[in-house]
Parts: sequence; C-alpha cells; structure tokens
Amino acid sequence: MADDDGRHPSGKGRDVLQNTDTETAIRTRLKEGSVKLYELEEEVPAVDAIRIRREFIEYETGIKLDNIGIFSIDVERVVKRNCENMIGTVQVPLGVAGPLQVNGEYAHGSYYLPLATTEGALVASVNRGCSAITRAGGAEVRILHDGMTRAPVFAARSVAHAKQAVDWVAGHEAELRAAAESTTSHGKLIGIAPFIAGTSVFFRMNFDTKDAMGMNMVTIASAKAADLIAQGTGARLVALSGNMCTDKKPAAINGILGRGRSAVAGVALSHDLISSILKTDAATLFDVNYRKNLVGSARAGSMGFNAHAANVVAAMFIACGQDAAHAIDGSTCLTTVDPVPTGVYVSVTLPSLPVGTVGGGTAVETQQECLKLLGVAGGGTPPGTNAKKLAEIIASGVLAGELSLLGALAAQDLARAHQQLGRG
Ligand code: NAP
Repeated sequence: MADDDGRHPSGKGRDVLQNTDTETAIRTRLKEGSVKLYELEEEVPAVDAIRIRREFIEYETGIKLDNIGIFSIDVERVVKRNCENMIGTVQVPLGVAGPLQVNGEYAHGSYYLPLATTEGALVASVNRGCSAITRAGGAEVRILHDGMTRAPVFAARSVAHAKQAVDWVAGHEAELRAAAESTTSHGKLIGIAPFIAGTSVFFRMNFDTKDAMGMNMVTIASAKAADLIAQGTGARLVALSGNMCTDKKPAAINGILGRGRSAVAGVALSHDLISSILKTDAATLFDVNYRKNLVGSARAGSMGFNAHAANVVAAMFIACGQDAAHAIDGSTCLTTVDPVPTGVYVSVTLPSLPVGTVGGGTAVETQQECLKLLGVAGGGTPPGTNAKKLAEIIASGVLAGELSLLGALAAQDLARAHQQLGRG
C-alpha cells in the first residue's frame, strides 16, 4: 500500500510536508531524543505528525503498519481531544441489527443498531432478537434514573471529625452547588451522598449532565466543590476520585443507586413468536433464564445477572463513540423472564449506562455517523433528550441480545450457531 514516493497513506487531507528537510531534521531529533514522540504535533500538522511517528515506530520495531496508517477521520481534532501519541487507527468491523421497534419515552420508532465487533455470530444473534421484538410490537423502555457521579475521598483526623465533615457538607449544599456549577453551562448538581469508612470520608456527587456522558464535566465540577469542602471542614482531600463513584469497575453501588442513565426495557412474546423465531417454548425459556441468569450468576457471585449484555453494550459503545471501558458498568444488567398466560414477558434492567451524544469520542466522524443513524448526534432539544434516547435504544438492543441468546441456549443451538458463523 505504498504511494508513488514510497510513503504510506496517512489519511484524509494528507499533507505530505513540502519541506522534506524539516521532516528529515525531525527524524534526526527523534533519534537523538531532542524531540519526544508526543511533541510532534507542535512541529508539524497532525496528519504529518501521525505519519512520522508511525514511521519511527516501524523503524524501531521492524514491523510494517500499512493498515493502521489508512483512515479518513479528522485527526487535527482527534489528537487534541481523543488520543495522544497517535499513529493511526484500528478498524473494527461494523454490522447492523434491525430494524428494531423501540417504544420509549425518548426513542419512538424503528432503528438499525450499529454494532462494532469482531465476534462472529453476535450481529446475527442480535438481529434475530430485533426481529422477535419488532414482531411483538416493540420494546417498551423507560429511563429510571439519570445522574453521573464523582466521589472524592477526604482524610479526617478521627471518626468524630469525619461525621463533622458530613454535617458541614449537609449545611452548605447551596454553596457547593454554586461552586460546582460555575464550571459548566450544562451540568447541574443533583445531590451529594456522604459515606464514611473510619477516617475516610467520601462525598458521592451526582450531576445531571444533559447530553454529555459527563465524566470530564463532573470531574472538573467536583474539583471546585472538593476544594471548598477541604477548606470548610479541615479534612484533607486525598483524591478527587475515591472509587465510590464508581467508574469503570464492577460495583454494587452503581447497580443499587444507578450511575449514568439507568434504563429498563421489556417485551411480551407470544407462544407463537417464541416457537417461530426463538425455536423454543415459554417454559424452557423461563427455565434457562432462572437456572443460568439468576441461579448460575448468584452461585458464581457475579454482579451481572444476564446472558451477554456486555456484548451489545460494548459493540454499540465502540460504534457510537462511547468510552468502551464503560462496558463494565453496562454488564451489571439483570435479565428476567416472567411466565404469562400468553407466553413470556422478558425484561432487562441496566442500572448503569454512561452514555452521551456530545463530547468524548462522539464527534469522531465514523462514530458520529453511527449516532446519526440513530437520530441522536449532538445535543438534544431540550438538552438531555438525545442521551436518554440513546440509552433507550441501547437497552432495547440489549433486550434483543438477551432474547436471542436465551433462545439459542433453550433450543440447544449455541454451539452450532458459533460453529457456522464465528469460525473461519
Ligand atoms: P467532554 O467532551 O469533556 O465535555 C462535554 C461538554 O460538552 C460539556 O462539558 C458541555 O460543556 C458541552 N456540551 C455542549 N452541549 C451539551 C449538551 N447538550 N449537553 C451536555 N453538555 C453539552 O465530555 P464529558 O461527557 O464530560 O466526558 C466524556 C469523556 O470523559 C470521554 O472522553 C471519556 O473517555 C472521559 N473520561 C474521563 C474521566 C475523568 O476522570 N475525567 C473518566 C472516565 C472517562 P459545558 O460543561 O461547558 O456546558
């Protein structure tokens, strides 16, 4: 994949440096160590910095990176906002599942779900679930809670001092709210939940972040409030994140109190649909869910009582410019199957979906196209509605994935599907 001049393609608007002497000089300085790899954007446009950096890595390692060097995204913004020391991109195959009928409070209509994955059989499986849901009239979906959290940890001198700090915060919420909200035109402090563990005091600050996923927003806002708390209480601010937030770690607190958008989705499936699409029956579906998702998960001490919610969450997060590490939070889903006279009512409860339609990776062009496909790119009117719509669609996609996998297990069909679709 070399160009005429022997260089490797480096993406849209590739500006091969006019001044090759400059480039040669940069290479020499890189080898000498007088310029660092991460400083190249200060010397040349981002697209050239990426190419020079990649070529340096190729030279150092002896590995050709031809495919990593091909991309179309606007790297000038990406190197400032999304990725340091950039050398190119990794391409993740993107499939669609659907149409999926979603009957939410924010998402109404039929959607094609973008799923970025390398797991063969995943898109096909979700597609089958979408078909079952759509033929059943659609997924009912509701947002139960909306709030992103940051929990700084403070060191108190004693347990009595720890309690004094909690009392001080309770008496100064208005002041703390004003300080936190002075850093953002969108974020609103909803509340502060205190937790004490000996001399450690945690204040879990909960924000309405509108259409942003909000982790940067609430971290900046919490820093302002945390400074005031330290001044007002004399407790020492140890860390702006004290892990009771809880970000990117499986944690019961997120499942109980919620974090990001909490969503619940459900669908009533008739005996006919269970048999024609899922190739099983209501009693078997119930039994598989009970023994696998409920009993099996409990016996394993799992925090996720579901079949594979993280699969849909991760694939949609990667496609839609969400922070992929938050698939951990999404995996704490609870799946239920209620037997009803007409068939079954299947539901998924996702207490922690940190999603946004502005900020983070949502403006990268390929990811933005996926958000556009769902009608949620950018800020909503009013603010917050696009992020909630995205959460409703993802929850409905998780429901589709759960239905299909439960059906495959009930029909003893899982190994065959993977053998056909997931193996070369
Ligand atoms: P961000 O890109 O840092 O900021 C988004 C900003 O968009 C908001 O702060 C807001 O500005 C503005 N905005 C414009 N229209 C908006 C609307 N309709 N609704 C809400 N905001 C709107 O993104 P973020 O969501 O705060 O943070 C996401 C990023 O944080 C991701 O890249 C993620 O990987 C990263 N992350 C950070 C941490 C951390 O500890 N900092 C942890 C995990 C993940 P104003 O505030 O000025 O109104």
